[in-house]
Amino acid sequence: MTRIGFIGLGNMGLPMAVNLVKAGHTVSGFDLSDEARRKLGAAGGTVAADLADAVDGAEQVITMLPEGAHVRSVYLGESGILRLAAQGALLIDCSTIDVETARAVAKAAEASGRAMLDAPVSGGVGGATAGTLTFMVGGAPAAFEQAKPTLELMGKAVIFTGASGSGQAAKICNNMILGISMIAVSEAFALAEKLGLEADKLFAVSSQSSGQCWSLTSYCPVPGPVPSSPANRDYAPGFTTAMMLKDLRLAQAAALASGARTPLGAEAAQLYALFAREEAALDFSAIIRIFQDARP
Ligand code: NAD
Repeated sequence: MTRIGFIGLGNMGLPMAVNLVKAGHTVSGFDLSDEARRKLGAAGGTVAADLADAVDGAEQVITMLPEGAHVRSVYLGESGILRLAAQGALLIDCSTIDVETARAVAKAAEASGRAMLDAPVSGGVGGATAGTLTFMVGGAPAAFEQAKPTLELMGKAVIFTGASGSGQAAKICNNMILGISMIAVSEAFALAEKLGLEADKLFAVSSQSSGQCWSLTSYCPVPGPVPSSPANRDYAPGFTTAMMLKDLRLAQAAALASGARTPLGAEAAQLYALFAREEAALDFSAIIRIFQDARP
């Protein structure tokens, strides 16, 4: 049994923390939201009064926060985790944030004598609830080995990606592939419609041809061919357009900082920004509407 402090009990953090409780760990959770804290208590977790209370005596501290600014303040702030956590506590940030912040906070943690991992996830709220997330983990190999049994209680795949920041790099590169491939599949279905080619027929061909990809076969943006895809539920998320835009912007910031050329990533970010002005809450596969609305 491990004593775990869990900070950030939102859509992802709460079900992740609940899986640790179910596995028999002592989880002391804190969130700014009273309701989120109450839900953890109802699921058998310990409700912490504040950040200090959550990390008090914790062997491992896990954070699941919205953005890099939150991670900086929760770790580096005057009464942040680096001031409060026990010496030797293992720090694991599962938020999706910029690579630069992940590296800077890990460096500060190391200087304070604590190991820190960046461990963003893919799999969404469904994966967090089912305990089937994929973790991409950057940091020291020894810290990874220490964290792995805990992460395996929340995920089906726990992958070591290299030095600090590499987990975030893996996450934004993967989601850049996803954003671009969803646009490619959407354009193809919109073109097929204009050409009088039925969606089912294009799916039958492309799912067995060189156009095959996850956006097509697992998450098809038109209703019908893949019954579990959000297109069959009026694009209820899933993974929202706002979240896809966030990740594509992180990828563009990283490309700019590192000098990488990502023209399709840049175009995808622009298209999602345009779509998010009206439909940020819809699943990201609803981007197909941009192309379906195109006039002849
Ligand atoms: P969320 O907004 O539902 O939850 C974030 C929680 O952090 C909120 O409950 C908020 O009150 C809390 N919080 C913010 N500042 C805090 C502070 N200083 N102290 C304590 N609590 C604080 O977001 P989410 O959907 O759970 O996403 C969390 C992270 O996971 C994000 O970085 C997101 O990009 C990433 N992610 C989300 C999904 C998804 O499908 N939702 C999938 C993969 C990755």
